[in-house]
Amino acid sequence: MLLQNSLEDTIVAISSPYGMGGVAVIRCSGKLAFNITQQLFFKKKFSKWDLKKIVFRKMYYGIIIENENVIDDVMVCFFQSPHSYTGEDVVEIYCHGSIYVQQKILQLYLNKGARLANAGEFTIRAYLNGKLNLSEAEAIGDLIHAETEAEHRLAIDQLRGGYKNLIEHLREQLLNFASLIELELDFSEEDVEFANRTQLIQLLQSALSDIEKLTESFQMGNAIKTGIPVVILGKPNAGKSTLLNALLNEEKAIVSEIPGTTRDLIEDKLIINGIAFRIIDTAGIREAKDEIEKIGIERAQQSIQKAMIVILLQDISKSDHHSTEEYIQMINSFNPNAVILKVYNKIDKLNEIKFKEDDSIYISAKEKINIDVLKQKLFHIVLEKGYQPHRPMVTNVRHFNELNAAKKFLNKALNDLKTNVSTELIAEDLKFAIHHLSNITGNITSEDILKNIFSKFCIGK
Ligand code: GDP
Repeated sequence: MLLQNSLEDTIVAISSPYGMGGVAVIRCSGKLAFNITQQLFFKKKFSKWDLKKIVFRKMYYGIIIENENVIDDVMVCFFQSPHSYTGEDVVEIYCHGSIYVQQKILQLYLNKGARLANAGEFTIRAYLNGKLNLSEAEAIGDLIHAETEAEHRLAIDQLRGGYKNLIEHLREQLLNFASLIELELDFSEEDVEFANRTQLIQLLQSALSDIEKLTESFQMGNAIKTGIPVVILGKPNAGKSTLLNALLNEEKAIVSEIPGTTRDLIEDKLIINGIAFRIIDTAGIREAKDEIEKIGIERAQQSIQKAMIVILLQDISKSDHHSTEEYIQMINSFNPNAVILKVYNKIDKLNEIKFKEDDSIYISAKEKINIDVLKQKLFHIVLEKGYQPHRPMVTNVRHFNELNAAKKFLNKALNDLKTNVSTELIAEDLKFAIHHLSNITGNITSEDILKNIFSKFCIGK
């Protein structure tokens, strides 16, 4: 898919989502894009457009014709290389969103010599033509998939630079030192020292601290992207399924008075103030009576391990201090980092709540009392955990892995420097660290990595 020679092809695809709509967009990129369009796109009265007179990036109104039959009234925009998304000549056709019309126009382009674009191929070309760097290309992928305000914010920040500048700055400084060290190797017989060791140690320390901050942001960044995992845990009949329904405002989980009805995990997304939460109802952790329940209980344990927040739900009329403590210990043993939020349910059953704990929330899932308070508390926990809307955050697993690899070699270099290991080894470590930082934004030549990145795009992008 990425072979250089396929870049010679002119590619075409429907860039709007599949299906019927008001308007659809067909995009064609490559050497033949203008030529093919001129054979298909005419003025209202069937006369030809003069390509020499076309103003680029301006919309033209006309018709698409096949054998003198009008297929559709369309708007067309021409983008001349290099001023286009891909960097090549590009034409975008805005037609009516009938599936037939879209397919027909696509077919006409194919008949005239264009080929169907592969998934992400427009963006690959943009990358190969230097219109986007890798992390920007990945940000576009995230932007397309963003469903919430927070995901969108992260993608836009990354598209507009994000931590790219910081990484490039670190890379340049390290490159500087690496070249001085290489120079020392060239003059090794003369025992000279071009690179100031104290400064190098300082640089490595500050680079490590910057990278550390980025890798630390990954857990939150990734959670914002995929949804903050929240597990609802509690004894059978505490009202977990009812709470899940109240939070999601729909009848998702089966509510029943027979303990152990929720045998599997039920999960759905809930958006609070622009952040997605994945709310997971568990089968509850207790003695398994049969095999199916056992599976459910094991899954509950696994979901606690992945949770950022555990809602410990208790029936206020039945709660006892002893079992609360047992639950807390159990959650801590599975996942010491999880925030435990104690929520007391069924307050509608009591005339008055005699004693209130400061850090707990009192609700009625059935009567939908204080559900909003609970939602705002979930949002605040995310803020307390360090989410700031404009802080650069690593959301991409590939970047996270590259940063960790860079960190490993920087630590090694730091150790080597302190223990006076040979200059060759330090030069090696720096080279590897720089290589991993470069992989985040810069020139990756490995076809496998590129394939992996761009395969996540849809066709037409
Ligand atoms: P789970 O086993 O923890 O999932 O509990 P369910 O959601 O299935 O609820 C068990 C029972 O408690 C059902 O009969 C619910 O209607 C009832 N229930 C749940 N929440 C409340 C509440 O806030 N007030 C009252 N009075 N009953 C509730």
